[in-house]
Amino acid sequence: MKIISDIQELRDHLRGQNRASFVPTMGNLHEGHLSLMRLARQHGDPVVASIFVNRLQFGPNEDFDSYPRTMQDDIEKLEREGVYILFAPTERDLYPQPQEYRVDPPHQLGDILEGEFRPGFFKGVCTVVLKLFSCVQPKVAVFGKKDYQQLMIIRQMAKQFALPVDIIPGETIRAEDGLALSSRNGYLSSQERAEAPELQKILQQVRHQVLDLGARNTQALSEIEKLAESTLAKRGWEPDYIAIRQQSDLAPPSNESLQGGEPLVILTAAKLGKTRLIDNLEI
Ligand code: AMP
Repeated sequence: MKIISDIQELRDHLRGQNRASFVPTMGNLHEGHLSLMRLARQHGDPVVASIFVNRLQFGPNEDFDSYPRTMQDDIEKLEREGVYILFAPTERDLYPQPQEYRVDPPHQLGDILEGEFRPGFFKGVCTVVLKLFSCVQPKVAVFGKKDYQQLMIIRQMAKQFALPVDIIPGETIRAEDGLALSSRNGYLSSQERAEAPELQKILQQVRHQVLDLGARNTQALSEIEKLAESTLAKRGWEPDYIAIRQQSDLAPPSNESLQGGEPLVILTAAKLGKTRLIDNLEI
């Protein structure tokens, strides 16, 4: 595997390649990331991964400084997956000047759910992803459904800018007890780690309530959401949101769309101690 930090050198290595398949990450790689590398391999060649902890998407009180950086380990994992190039730019490589041009996603997608609790997050994400696309110029790029809203926002960005890249979704990889793998799981104490699978369990309960109890109106959905939040809170979590939304645009469903069988997704973010976890479940 070639490890490249310089944009020009990356371009030199990829010259003439028009089927490259790209997986952007922030490193501290786990099976979830590696499953995306395998998916990428099915959709293009060569596979290019990136590792870059993107300051632009972290809020002032978030974990940019403490975000786990495990480059040596990550390199070994990517080598085992047969990744062809690891693009691992420094901040100076990717942002040689202050990044003043930014991509601002539309309010109705970028400022809801995660965007409401992490102002500027998706602006930072879109900006770095567009820039990484410009560096790698992939034919396809793979993003995990674990970050459901991010996947949707990147898809829309690619569509609205007519970017010549297909966005491929990867399923969420979980631990045996149901906890979605995440680099931030490493922040959990052993007690918190034992509690953490409850987040997915609550989503399954919500799905059960929506499906089996036949909640067909917005009032019933909002009661289910509130009940789920208070259940989490009673167990010691600090939920930011548990929201039942339309898969198509993440907007709250209307009574008409519920009756029309609109596909739904439940999204959640909640803090357990100091660690903020997110998860989702399609209905
Ligand atoms: P990150 O390093 O957290 O920025 O994530 C890089 C990519 O891996 C994103 O597309 C994530 O959605 C994806 N990802 C993170 N966790 C998982 C997981 N448990 N299963 C599948 N994909 C994941």
